[in-house]
Amino acid sequence: MTEEIIVSFQHVEKVFDEEKVLKDISFELEKGKFYTLLGPSGCGKSTILNLVAGFTSPSEGKIILNGVETNNTPPNKRKVNTVFQDYALFPHMNVFDNVAFGLKIKKMKKNVIEEKVMSALQMVRLNGFEQREVSEMSGGQRQRVAIARALVNEPDVLLLDEPLSALDLKLRTDMQYELRELQRRLGITFLFVTHDQEEALAMSDEIMVMKEGEIIQTGSPTDIYDEPINRYVADFIGESN
Ligand code: ADP
Ligand code: MG
Repeated sequence: MTEEIIVSFQHVEKVFDEEKVLKDISFELEKGKFYTLLGPSGCGKSTILNLVAGFTSPSEGKIILNGVETNNTPPNKRKVNTVFQDYALFPHMNVFDNVAFGLKIKKMKKNVIEEKVMSALQMVRLNGFEQREVSEMSGGQRQRVAIARALVNEPDVLLLDEPLSALDLKLRTDMQYELRELQRRLGITFLFVTHDQEEALAMSDEIMVMKEGEIIQTGSPTDIYDEPINRYVADFIGESN
């Protein structure tokens, strides 16, 4: 059986100010798996997410979503949503209004919005918190609100850009488990970004290790840990924080 390919990059390059920040990036993401882009700051991880989301377009190459070439499809026409590191929530709005925000802009009917918001809150186990103001919530709860807001659009792919790096160690470990469990439960594709190799090893089905705008190794956590392709990967994986 061939797996369903949700995202495909074919020889994608990105140039900013005459500098090539992504070089010949090719990969495929299958439906329902947890993928991680792992690499140090500045290697191009967020740029890859921005290309999947449609916030920016490739300078070269093709991006194919659900079998359709998507280089110039606007973000709101893609079944892709992003959870940002700072969550980008509205602190003085309640949970319901934060999650409903994008749906209201799309002018959906009130009862449809309500149904979708309640279902998204259920997914992250925040039902009962609808009226709570975000500024009164803990870091872990805010994270879940941000995830619910992304899930409310029923994406095929959820992009997560270093969502755990601002959290303290204990909460980070809890959230690693929670995100992994959520991904399995929902069966949607996650593309997760981190510079933390322990996080990548703990969470992923597949890790793409990046260095200076290139993906230099792709494999399961076991592959990457047991058989690093070169000294760079070995050193990077062996570092601890
Ligand atoms: P990472 O997320 O791995 O830290 P980024 O994808 O944010 O890396 O950045 C990769 C490189 O591209 C960096 O050198 C960064 O300065 C550059 N870059 C990213 N976005 C822009 C932009 N909008 N304009 C110019 N340069 C950018
Ligand atoms: Mg980044």
